[in-house]
Amino acid sequence: MMQEQHPGAVRGLFDTLLRAYGPRHWWPARTVPEMMVGAMLVQNTTWTGASQAVARLEEAGLLDSWSKLLQTPDETLGALIRPAGYFRVKTRRLKALAGFMAGFDHDHTRLFQQETPPLRAALLGVHGVGKETADSILCYAAQRPIFVVDAYTRRIFSRLGWCDDQAGYDDLQRLVMSALPPDAHILGEMHALLVEHAKTHCRAQPRCAGCPVGPCLTIGLHNTPETSKETHTMLLCPTTHPTRQRNLA
Ligand code: SF4
Repeated sequence: MMQEQHPGAVRGLFDTLLRAYGPRHWWPARTVPEMMVGAMLVQNTTWTGASQAVARLEEAGLLDSWSKLLQTPDETLGALIRPAGYFRVKTRRLKALAGFMAGFDHDHTRLFQQETPPLRAALLGVHGVGKETADSILCYAAQRPIFVVDAYTRRIFSRLGWCDDQAGYDDLQRLVMSALPPDAHILGEMHALLVEHAKTHCRAQPRCAGCPVGPCLTIGLHNTPETSKETHTMLLCPTTHPTRQRNLA
């Protein structure tokens, strides 16, 4: 469920995170195929594991050409991407992506000639490509103005009191995209900044001391079960406090 949110609060969060962490220079890939493969490999794992798998594929010369990737035996591919975890599942998914690219002569510039809605629909039709992966490819590889939602977005926004922890992908995406300019660079930066914030401060066990989003008035309150969510929101995350919201507007 989503709470109605003033767009100024979302823009204020973007500004605060950008000031705190600086530009993140995402996506960490040198080429478009590397980015697309990385988006597939990072599913259900950390970037550390996924980037090791990407490096091994690159070393094996498999990121130069989608057709080489498609022709590589499953066992070989699986062994190479093992650091990313779920290697059998991800082997099938990478093969599906490479097979999909065969329909565009293995050329992403041909794929990206489509308008965003049909392109997104086509990506979502590939085995193993969900909304987060499709939107990552759209934003970071095809430079389309689209916001990528992930578990970190949901965690931070729910702690800010903007939604509950079951909020849907589309609702969270709409919230950000209605508040920020339709610019791939800004929307991509917002996603990257939220990831950084979730790793630095708003972790599974939050480190509220020194959090740039707002001075933590009640460190530790977050984990107190008897504290109502409303009280937590008001005290722990001052970004959502009405006075601060006015300042952000
Ligand atoms: S104050 Fe704590 S819970 Fe709120 S955004 Fe910062 S780290 Fe997360």
